[in-house]
Amino acid sequence: MDLKYPPDVEPFRAEVRQWLADNLPPGWGTSGLAMTKKERRAFNREWTAKLFAGGWICASWPKEYGGKGLSLMESVVLNEEFARAEAPLRADFFGDTLVGPTILQWGTEEQKQQFIPGILGGTISWCQGFSEPDAGSDLASLKTRAGLDGDEWVINGQKVWTTQAQFADYIFLIARTDPEAPKHAGISYLLVPMRQEGVEVRPIEQVDGSADFNEVFFTGARCSRANVIGGENNGWKVAMTTLGFERGTSATTGHRRFQRELDQIISEAKKNGQASDPLIRQRLATAWTKVKIMQINGYRALTDALNGTHHAAAVGACNKMFWSEYHQAAMELALDIMGMDAQILTGSPEDNEDRLRRGRDDYPVSDMQASFFFSRSETIWGGTAEIQRNIVGERVLGLPKEPRATAS
Ligand SMILES: Cc1cc2nc3c(=O)[nH]c(=O)nc-3n(C[C@H](O)[C@H](O)[C@H](O)COP(=O)(O)OP(=O)(O)OC[C@H]3O[C@@H](n4cnc5c(N)ncnc54)[C@H](O)[C@@H]3O)c2cc1C
Repeated sequence: MDLKYPPDVEPFRAEVRQWLADNLPPGWGTSGLAMTKKERRAFNREWTAKLFAGGWICASWPKEYGGKGLSLMESVVLNEEFARAEAPLRADFFGDTLVGPTILQWGTEEQKQQFIPGILGGTISWCQGFSEPDAGSDLASLKTRAGLDGDEWVINGQKVWTTQAQFADYIFLIARTDPEAPKHAGISYLLVPMRQEGVEVRPIEQVDGSADFNEVFFTGARCSRANVIGGENNGWKVAMTTLGFERGTSATTGHRRFQRELDQIISEAKKNGQASDPLIRQRLATAWTKVKIMQINGYRALTDALNGTHHAAAVGACNKMFWSEYHQAAMELALDIMGMDAQILTGSPEDNEDRLRRGRDDYPVSDMQASFFFSRSETIWGGTAEIQRNIVGERVLGLPKEPRATAS
């Protein structure tokens, strides 16, 4: 097996490496570099501006829409170099990872011209309106309705678990547009402005007091008829494309954050003596092995994509199931290693400002504690681990479809 990359991507690797060396603050990635809250905020602002100026955000997108038109190998190298330097490479997850690629795949030329520059420039922020109170895993049971009134869609219904809805300018949602059609048909994928009468966002407060996700109520909310992606009543296929992007991870870099975290856990175990406990040692070895499996599976996914033998849905389902379950076990192990120390809140309210999943000031979790808490949700969002198993069972292993309840 030859795991070397084609030599023609090496000049590009050198270019990215040089750009990072020229633009990252001196000492970046070393323990010697400490930033105050104010410095960190200024860095985040300046760094995002530099990324846009360098054209590194969504660099794989076609040049005519503002990307760099990178090849798959170049995109992989770009991700690897940023991950190696521990440099952030993302503006808005919902925009650049989910709805942006979906618009590029399904949108009309007008839709691309209207929305892609705002995603690339970071001027429109997004949230995802798929789940409803009675439609999560069984998403096609959704009840939110959209009907035409002249040149506008009028939306009524409720979404739930809508992350970052409180900050979003637009929501990409799916709604029933033909109630007479069978369950998976008659659904449309709409881009709806959030800041209008008829859209109400109610935060859902979690146990630590933070409220990252929300309920969103639509009462006669409106968007242009032109804001339907992929055609009227064709939204199911479009939504599946978005979910594919959500489950797929950056093939050869996905394992790195787990490796970094595991290194910290191992170092903690060495420090507090837990590393001599035979059972802890076994669990650490298992965790290390699983991170290596993720790395090798990343190469497998890359080879698959390069050879054009795409099994993206199956590979995405396997990966999502594997990393989310790995991470829960690893974080439980971390807390077992820390013992009673894991109960003490050692973070500072200042840290909360910069963290995506913020705790409240009076509940200042450390990075490790925050990661433990968030790992509980990772087997749920983007499709639960059980649903990924169903996909693997049916599409990869060719098992019979799961039995459905029949009306008696
Ligand atoms: C942190 C977080 C952020 C989220 N952000 C968003 C967001 O921004 N936008 C959005 O639209 N949604 C979001 N979600 C919602 C998420 O997509 C749903 O929670 C998920 O799809 C599961 O749906 P549900 O909660 O309704 O659970 P249910 O579908 O009711 O499932 C309950 C349990 O039953 C199991 N189950 C259900 N059906 C089957 C089956 N056929 N076979 C075997 N087991 C089954 C599930 O695995 C689960 O254990 C978020 C969720 C979390 C946790």
